[in-house]
Amino acid sequence: MSDLRELYQQTIIDHNRKPRNFHPMPNADHHAKGHNPLCGDRLELYLKIDGQRITDASFTGAGCAISTASASMMTEALKGRTLDEAKAIYQKFHTLLTTPLHEPVTIDGLDKLEVFSGVREFPVRVKCATLAWHTFEAAVKDDQHEAKTE
Ligand code: ZN
Repeated sequence: MSDLRELYQQTIIDHNRKPRNFHPMPNADHHAKGHNPLCGDRLELYLKIDGQRITDASFTGAGCAISTASASMMTEALKGRTLDEAKAIYQKFHTLLTTPLHEPVTIDGLDKLEVFSGVREFPVRVKCATLAWHTFEAAVKDDQHEAKTE
């Protein structure tokens, strides 16, 4: 557990300092804004979707380390996936974050996203970690309303 915690902290710090895919995408064909009022995190997500496959993903915005790292890692995880695969990852990610801390949780197919199980120690941060995914859902639906974690 302490190894995972260390990996969690290192991963969050790394992605917060150097967010991946952190730029606007003028020719995106899907776009949505997200807001987590609890913490003040805001982000915009951009997607290119070819048929059923996500060919590109990027984001901009300002938020806490966890929301930024989560968005950064999500864009990496989404690229090249089909929409069904992406939704399956979201479901697993959500299950991971909402499993009580004292219960063991092992979820196949999350790869690097598994480090976010560390967020379970800080329940107030769960919404920071899931904001990017709420925004992803809104972008796929082309929902023009701001995606909110509340
Ligand atoms: Zn936050």
